[in-house]
Amino acid sequence: ENYHALLGENRKLFNEIQDLKGNIRVYCRIRPFLPGQREKRTSVEHVGENGELVVADRSKPGKEGHRLFKFNKVFGSDATQAEVYSDTQPLIRSVLDGYNVCIFAYGQTGSGKTYTMTGPNSSTKENWGVNYRALNDLFDISQRRKSSITYEIGVQMVEIYNEQVRDLLSGDGTQKKYPSVPDASMHPVKSTSDVIQLMGLGLKNRVVSATALNERSSRSHSVVTVHVRGMDLKTGSALIGNLHLVDLAGSERVDRSEVIGDRLKEAQHINKSLSALGDVIFALSQKSSHVPYRNSKLTQVLQSSLGGQAKTLMFVQLNPETSSYSESLSTLKFAERVAGVELGAARSNK
Ligand code: ADP
Repeated sequence: ENYHALLGENRKLFNEIQDLKGNIRVYCRIRPFLPGQREKRTSVEHVGENGELVVADRSKPGKEGHRLFKFNKVFGSDATQAEVYSDTQPLIRSVLDGYNVCIFAYGQTGSGKTYTMTGPNSSTKENWGVNYRALNDLFDISQRRKSSITYEIGVQMVEIYNEQVRDLLSGDGTQKKYPSVPDASMHPVKSTSDVIQLMGLGLKNRVVSATALNERSSRSHSVVTVHVRGMDLKTGSALIGNLHLVDLAGSERVDRSEVIGDRLKEAQHINKSLSALGDVIFALSQKSSHVPYRNSKLTQVLQSSLGGQAKTLMFVQLNPETSSYSESLSTLKFAERVAGVELGAARSNK
């Protein structure tokens, strides 16, 4: 088959980058076709077990339109929320050991970012996304460790829109603006149901502004910050870890000739912050001495969980249909660049 030829050529390179770069992991997830969706032609050609993904430009004949990508893992459209989370769980555990972790979902609007991070609307436990599963695990594990370490867990939730940070959990849901996340309200949580209640409020506050400002929720980044503070009962030493859970704004390119005013400004801010995020992770993957955190609000907010000993996981979300091919391709290119794993010339499928 076509992809076997592609894989053969790149096998050596694959082995070299098997672990991608140190603390940066990239998982790709393909959204299923939705009920009622008319188009059923997919641009996904092959999902490999070891993180290979072949996508196809259907306007070109056969193998000519095939492109190969390699990530730490690729989840096909039938992957369940539990399966997706099971590979994420070790990262969550490390937060309780004092590591900083950042997990974010990147992709065009409608590609399943919110589904992966939060889950579907009115979700059951089975459909919980990463956010709820992560918090649930933090409570579980901290409970199990309680004879030796006591933990306190606090949550903040903000939205970054047009380079401004807005607290989604301040009591009255007003438009109070904060220069940075540390100033946003912090809410101690003791159980998953506390978290569900809080995040429900945050999502509601986000939706309120969305209706007023035209689908703003896909035009802003939402950032949940979980602060974990453990106290070792024997030694008295403190363990501090934090976890950022980020649902990024839609990455789709907006046609400059078609948008003006607020919409153009939004698009420019999103573009700027997503490329700033890409630049930061790229610099980290290259072990570069200068990491450009200051270039956007988003990267400033996430700084503590990007770089150093911190662990980063990016979910690259894809729409399956052929009509989304060009957006999918740019999403994949962004992902392979930020992870510093471009296959470059070796990918050409002569
Ligand atoms: P985004 O946050 O990227 O804009 P959503 O998460 O809102 O995208 O997903 C778009 C639609 O697709 C929603 O109706 C969502 O419930 C559905 N969806 C996304 N991913 C899946 C999945 N893995 N399984 C079933 N439905 C999904």
